[in-house]
Amino acid sequence: MSSTLDHVLYQALNERRERNLYRQCRVLSSPQGPQVEINGRTMLSFCSNDYLGLANDARIIQRFKDAADEMGVGSGAAHLVNGHNYYHQALEEALAEFTNRPRALLFSTGYMANMGVIASVLNKQDAVFEDKWNHASLIDGGLLSGARFQRYLHKDLENLNQRLLKTQANQKMIVTDGVFSMDGDCADLPRLANTAKKHNAWLMVDDAHGFGVLGDNGAGLCEAQNVSGDDVPILMATLGKGLGTAGAFVAGSEALIEYLTNFARPYIYTTAMPAAVAAATLTSLQIVKEDAERRIHLQSLISQFRQGARQLGFELMNSSTPIQPIIVGEADQALLMTEALNKKGIHVAAIRPPTVPEGTSRLRVTLSASHSEAHVNQLLQALEDIQYLNQ
Ligand SMILES: *Cc1c(COP(=O)(O)O)cnc(C)c1O
Repeated sequence: MSSTLDHVLYQALNERRERNLYRQCRVLSSPQGPQVEINGRTMLSFCSNDYLGLANDARIIQRFKDAADEMGVGSGAAHLVNGHNYYHQALEEALAEFTNRPRALLFSTGYMANMGVIASVLNKQDAVFEDKWNHASLIDGGLLSGARFQRYLHKDLENLNQRLLKTQANQKMIVTDGVFSMDGDCADLPRLANTAKKHNAWLMVDDAHGFGVLGDNGAGLCEAQNVSGDDVPILMATLGKGLGTAGAFVAGSEALIEYLTNFARPYIYTTAMPAAVAAATLTSLQIVKEDAERRIHLQSLISQFRQGARQLGFELMNSSTPIQPIIVGEADQALLMTEALNKKGIHVAAIRPPTVPEGTSRLRVTLSASHSEAHVNQLLQALEDIQYLNQ
């Protein structure tokens, strides 16, 4: 029987390979940082989501070690059983305060947070409206909920408005990425909040790429665009990107958090993140708040990269965030370009369908506060050298 299974699986895999869409992991033997060791080679990396360079910060590592000494490694159980540690509680309180919302709830991953919120809050009588370019976890949460599922054109509020006008659903939820993960552009939260209020719909924002990175204090896109908890009643963000640790949280009202605690299955039926991860995240949160220099440096790298890449004639997206994709077109061409960059010791990810639409394969360059101006110059030089491949 199992050979039949493999046969079926290989058919699908071979088809992917023929279309240049096959994917495999590379093995890192170093921490995250501007330089990483891949397959024994040191490479300059521009594809991590460690936007603030905190994944390998000595203070956060120390806190992690101390908390592991104190609390051990495994949390032992789900939060509601007996896995909810002092550090989880302290982190939830700190995140609620930082995002200026009454409560926050930790999830073990962002993927689970999105599944948990959307699928528990909505049911079959409801409708969910998602931006076409939302992250897969938001899409999957919407599908799992059983609610009528609609995708509106990317950032097109007129299209969203039309759909809201037509729906007969009981409850309506609008769901959007804050910063779109493959394009790097931002949702217009004030206008989305207005639209939501006008139609009596609930707005949920996933700020995975904005949290820690955007806003003067690093509180994310809501801070940068000056919208409140009243405008965005459901805020989700992850801890494995800008904050450099792991996990995610949802912030909102007392009612929302109590509801999720009781109904969100991806919260209830999973082991709590290790307490030491929560403790380490408390230190990263402190650094995020106090060290605005990291965000300022990151912004200057973003300007430097955009200016340089434009001068070379590359097509960039309308993005002012650390996500700076170079649009290439076909998947095979994107692969060719990343391989050429690889030979020059630079690691940039080629993003291909089905992650992005056909014909928009890209090099997804991401910048980090751990990069220097010289690193960005090295990247620009390498791009100049391989420019002939970009036809
Ligand atoms: C990374 C990401 C997630 C998933 O978060 P994890 O903690 O990695 O599971 C969710 N939403 C967006 C927009 C993301 O970029």
